[in-house]
Amino acid sequence: MLTVLRQIIQEMTSTQDFREALDIGVRRIARALHTEACSIFLLDRNHGEYVLIATHGLNPAAVGKIRIPLNQGLIGLVGEREEPLNLDSAKEHPHFLSVAEAQEDAYHAFLGIPIIYHRQVLGVLIVQHGESKRYDESEEAFLVTLGTQIAAIISHADVRDALQTFLINTPIGHHELIYSGVPGAPGVGIGQGVIIDTTLDFDAITDRIPDDIESEIQLLDSAFSAVREDLRLLGERLYPSLPAEERTLFDVYQRILDSADLGKEVADHIRQGKWAGAALRDVIMGHVHHLENLDNEYMQVRTEDIKDLGLRVLSYLQQHERAIPHYAEKTILIGETLTPTDLAEVPEGFLAGVVSKKGSSHSHIAILARAMKVPTIMGASDIPLQELRDKNIILDGYYGQIYVSPSDSLTAHFARLMQEEEKLEATLEEIRDLPATTKDGHTVSMMVNMGLGADLGASLTIGADGVGLYRTEIPFQMRDRFPSSEEQRIIYRQLLTSFSPRPVILRTLDIGGDKPLSYFPFKEENPFLGWRGIRISLDHPDIFLSQVRAMMRASDGLDNLRIMLPMITDVTEVDETTRLLRKAHTEVCEEGYNIKMPQIGVMIEVPSAVYQARALAKRVDFLSVGSNDLTQYILAVDRNNPHVANLYDTLHPAVLRALIQTVEGGHQEGKHVSICGEIASDPTAVMLLLAIGFDSMSMNAASIARVRWIIRHVTKKRAAKLLHEALSMESAVMIRGHMELALEKLGLGNLIRVGR
Ligand code: PEP
Ligand code: MG
Repeated sequence: MLTVLRQIIQEMTSTQDFREALDIGVRRIARALHTEACSIFLLDRNHGEYVLIATHGLNPAAVGKIRIPLNQGLIGLVGEREEPLNLDSAKEHPHFLSVAEAQEDAYHAFLGIPIIYHRQVLGVLIVQHGESKRYDESEEAFLVTLGTQIAAIISHADVRDALQTFLINTPIGHHELIYSGVPGAPGVGIGQGVIIDTTLDFDAITDRIPDDIESEIQLLDSAFSAVREDLRLLGERLYPSLPAEERTLFDVYQRILDSADLGKEVADHIRQGKWAGAALRDVIMGHVHHLENLDNEYMQVRTEDIKDLGLRVLSYLQQHERAIPHYAEKTILIGETLTPTDLAEVPEGFLAGVVSKKGSSHSHIAILARAMKVPTIMGASDIPLQELRDKNIILDGYYGQIYVSPSDSLTAHFARLMQEEEKLEATLEEIRDLPATTKDGHTVSMMVNMGLGADLGASLTIGADGVGLYRTEIPFQMRDRFPSSEEQRIIYRQLLTSFSPRPVILRTLDIGGDKPLSYFPFKEENPFLGWRGIRISLDHPDIFLSQVRAMMRASDGLDNLRIMLPMITDVTEVDETTRLLRKAHTEVCEEGYNIKMPQIGVMIEVPSAVYQARALAKRVDFLSVGSNDLTQYILAVDRNNPHVANLYDTLHPAVLRALIQTVEGGHQEGKHVSICGEIASDPTAVMLLLAIGFDSMSMNAASIARVRWIIRHVTKKRAAKLLHEALSMESAVMIRGHMELALEKLGLGNLIRVGR
């Protein structure tokens, strides 16, 4: 079968024309399985329909014409369940949908499998046969494997474009409108569109000379005070439902307002002869342009906050009544650039979802929505804002899809998904305080990653065994200058105290690459291969020593601090850093602190570190794999570049082998080996990581419960078998398909369907 499979894929990939490739595919599959019909339906996402795109055995004239609405018929069922459907008599199944044009009356046996790529259903592959029979297990496995390969072919960028053109040119049926954005907070929301209109605009402010400078400044002061009071009330309203850390978002607003600089700057402009509105416009837009030009996503999202604040002050200056929308009981809040204050204004219990045309998952609104567990989509730039007012809307925060005026069957489908999600959450909550121990008694520490987003509150409530990665660069990026050693000490102290006695791994500053600091600018041709991570720390011992001294002082009396070094490529970097760490320790002890030398670890993020894992482990107390960077450097794929995103897969066999070598190297020296990249939160990877032998896994707070659940459902022995099988496969697509099937067989398929 494997040889036939390879031949089919080879033949399919030998042509540049994707339709011809699919035609070859269906013919060859039918022949290989000795079955009468084989067809491929692809999902037209914009219209929510499966379109017949290639067939051998159905009416060839129906290609491009048969469109089956999402969740209808057997095709819809396979797509919805995301699992194979094997029937000896299709016509007797309650979901059977008779489509006259298909001319399939002669067929009884039916086997359909979903075509899935990166967890997205792209289509359905079916085989049919006249006589009533059940396809056997090997035939099913064959088709599933082929499905993963076909998924890889049709997800290729060129094919996607050609496919889009083909679908646009085929006639469509009745459908809901579908728009896309970026997932901001997971979950499904069903409700009515409520639009936030921002009629105020700085561009509309004209210049005029004020009559009296002092009364203009007084006007400004009282507008600032009024906004300050509004924010205090809004913040207070949200506080009971917000974890402590997220509350700081409102403090950020208050701080910006309170900063004497902003008020003073506007007052200075007034003194130069501008009325308050124009002075405010110039100052705010000056800050906005400065932030937008920083080429730093984290700083750019702050422009939304500054603009929002500015407009709020402006509305008081102009005595402009803020239009209060009519909130529906299930409100899907939609706006051009929504802000935390818009969200805070929705009455309690009314908010079912949020859609913002602008912004990314780093925006404050997205951070807040995640903390409040409100499904959210960001950057939905194509939505026709005004047309969504009062419309029924389904929001899929997992995939970033918005369905407008959905059909009843689609609404029922998502309502079911919401129920499944609630059930899953309840189950996960039940095991919150139980260890991540396999059925055969092997325990893995569950650690949390922190620093991206304000998530201390959420992290404390999920029963993590400690912090596996605190990205210290984040508080550095939130400022406009290097934080002082004392400012840093306070941040680290809060973290160490909150988790004590559980360990907290603070990673030293990891800037450079895609993480610049606005106040420490440098330009490079090739930043990912340039000055980043430990390289900057070693070239700037002043910054490094100030940071590690702050860490050590913060750990006074707690003894749970671990220090981790990013982007290590060579043992000399470790030797040099260890020397600096000892120096810092001696100095801090000389100041009168009685602190033990903290445990030191290195991140394994580049291939050279993998090959030298043992030599590195000899020098430190622990290793931790940064799979995000490791994958990018092994596969030579920029982790942030959408053009090559389809090539970035942490389940690539080469990456898995690197993980194995790292764990072996660390364990040979008797050292603890952890993994803290995104792979640790990927349900399809968990069993492989368990089998590879990681002592701990560190991930975002939202994923811990699911990963713990998987570990509690398997034996290490079973995981080892799956790893063995995965290592015999030659592509990430096959490994992913294999692991998804394994999760399905364990009854954990809903982890892939819900909360992907
Ligand atoms: C990684 O590279 O996997 C990692 C955890 O570090 P970061 O994502 O912060 O680069
Ligand atoms: Mg990294």
